[in-house]
Amino acid sequence: MDIKDYRVTGGAKVNLESFSTRADKSIEKDDIRNKLMPQNIEKMAELQEKLYAENQHALLIVLQAMDAAGKDGVIRHVMSGLNPQGTQVVSFKVPSSEENDHDYLWRINKALPRRGEIGIFNRSHYEDVLVTRVHDLVKTSQIPPELVTDSIWDTRYRQIRDFEKYLTENGTKVIKIFLHVSKEEQRQRLLDRINEPDKNWKFSSGDIQERRHWNQYMSAYEQMLENTGTKDAPWFVVPADNKWFARYLVSEIVLEALREIDPRIPELPESEKAKLEECRRILQEDA
Ligand code: ATP
Ligand code: MG
Repeated sequence: MDIKDYRVTGGAKVNLESFSTRADKSIEKDDIRNKLMPQNIEKMAELQEKLYAENQHALLIVLQAMDAAGKDGVIRHVMSGLNPQGTQVVSFKVPSSEENDHDYLWRINKALPRRGEIGIFNRSHYEDVLVTRVHDLVKTSQIPPELVTDSIWDTRYRQIRDFEKYLTENGTKVIKIFLHVSKEEQRQRLLDRINEPDKNWKFSSGDIQERRHWNQYMSAYEQMLENTGTKDAPWFVVPADNKWFARYLVSEIVLEALREIDPRIPELPESEKAKLEECRRILQEDA
């Protein structure tokens, strides 16, 4: 499996119908469960420790998807082996009145991972070119009306590209994952949430409303992918109808990003090494 097959780096038209929502058939589910996934989790943990120790780079993982595509499961599984101390998950909901009093990147900025950390965004600034676009929420927002023109979405794509470039140029690597679920699979999962009492809490009637706008969402996603996938901050369209496959592919993507960062455990300067020798002597003599 090559993660490049799922990568979108911009410059070309994106048609989501040409991206599969199903697992790569050449990969065995049992192999992933029993061998490949546990191996990846171990490797991620090793690299995370180095990232934390080095304390220079950060990794930001943006997760976007339609409802019931499996964002929560991806976060739970992929992050299961990581040290919570160096990881933070932030979920972005309908903006609060305080958030609406600011530009749309304000809350995003506040939630960015620190150096040494892995930050996961469960939804993100991309909601502002997705749900906001599908429902034309800019019209009723506090943005000055003269700024709400036909080109507002192109303007936002440019702002987002610039913002992510800025982050990259300051040591935060950005990768973006779109969990690509089919409309039929979403229907099944929403039905399961109704039919299985243990899943009732996950069901929201709002999800049925959003589903009615499926085609508009797909079109907004396509334009988002086309306009904000870049070489430095690429999108990955992850087939999400098979949860085990989506989770594994995300682990491969995160692992590759950490390898590209290539964090190193810092080596002490000579003066500090001399101090260590001194401390060793004190401890040894203290027996
Ligand atoms: P779950 O899988 O638990 O349903 P979720 O991410 O869908 O997770 P919810 O609390 O159900 O969480 O939904 C959050 C809602 O907030 C989504 O419908 C999303 O579109 C909306 N939202 C997020 N950001 C914005 C924004 N900037 N403007 C308007 N709506 C937003
Ligand atoms: Mg929801």
